[in-house]
This record gives sequence, C-alpha cells and structure tokens, in this order.
Amino acid sequence: MNARPNRSEYFRNYRKRKIRERREYQHEYRKRNKQRLNEYTKAWQKRNPEKHKVHYMRTTQTLKRKIFDAYGNKCACCGENTYEFLAVDHIHGGGNQHRKKITGRGGGGGAFYRWLRNNGFPKDDFRLLCHNCNLARAFYGKCPHENV
Ligand SMILES: [Zn+2]
Ligand SMILES: [Zn+2]
Repeated sequence: MNARPNRSEYFRNYRKRKIRERREYQHEYRKRNKQRLNEYTKAWQKRNPEKHKVHYMRTTQTLKRKIFDAYGNKCACCGENTYEFLAVDHIHGGGNQHRKKITGRGGGGGAFYRWLRNNGFPKDDFRLLCHNCNLARAFYGKCPHENV
C-alpha cells in the first residue's frame, strides 16, 4: 500500500532530474551547434524578411548616421551632402578584401560599420564619397572632379 507515495516521490525526482538534464543539455547543445543555430536564425530571418529587415535597417541606419557624422557628412571629393548618396570609401582601395578580413565575410555593411566605430573611425584609411565619385573612381581610376 505504501508503494504509491514512494512512486510519486520517485517520479517527482525523476522529473526534476530530467528538467535539470535537459537544461544542461540545451546549454551544451547551443555551444556545440552554434553554427546550426546561426543558420536557424538566418532561416527565421528568411521566413520573416519584413521583420528582420525593419530591425536590421533600424540598427544599421543609426550606426551609419553616427559614422557619417564622424566623417563629416559629405563627399570628400565633391562635397555632396545628401545622406542617401554617401558611402564609406576605402582610400587606398581593396575595400572588399579589407572588409572580408575585418568582418569575416564580404560586403556586410553592418559588420563593417561596427568595425569602424570600434576602431575610432580611422580617417587615414577611410572617407565618405558620394556614389558618383565612388563609381567614377572604380570605373576610370579617378573622379572627373579631379580634372576641374
Ligand atoms: Zn562626390
Ligand atoms: Zn568627385
């Protein structure tokens, strides 16, 4: 007859142990599957592109404004100061390779902006250029403004 309480006691402990084990397991699991979980996050972002976009845009835009402020908010070549036309330029070229080196991947505006902020907005290597001046340099080696 007294088997019953023992049994429920046993099950209670069993459940407690299972919960603890699961927690430890999840912790380990997260550590071991960082890559997979990152992919999962990416998959979520893919399934919820609008939500992700809004969040990503908001944080990146705030950071971008901070960086543009630090670099004078205008094109170093022609003085264009329309926010939408401006981008950070790697003065000595090789921008993509450098970005890859510092961010671990290509492009990735957000990671690059964070790197700039964390490194105190280095001005010897970076400046703001408008897209016109930027593309002219990329296509022709120099901007037509330099001939004026
Ligand atoms: Zn310009
Ligand atoms: Zn120019």
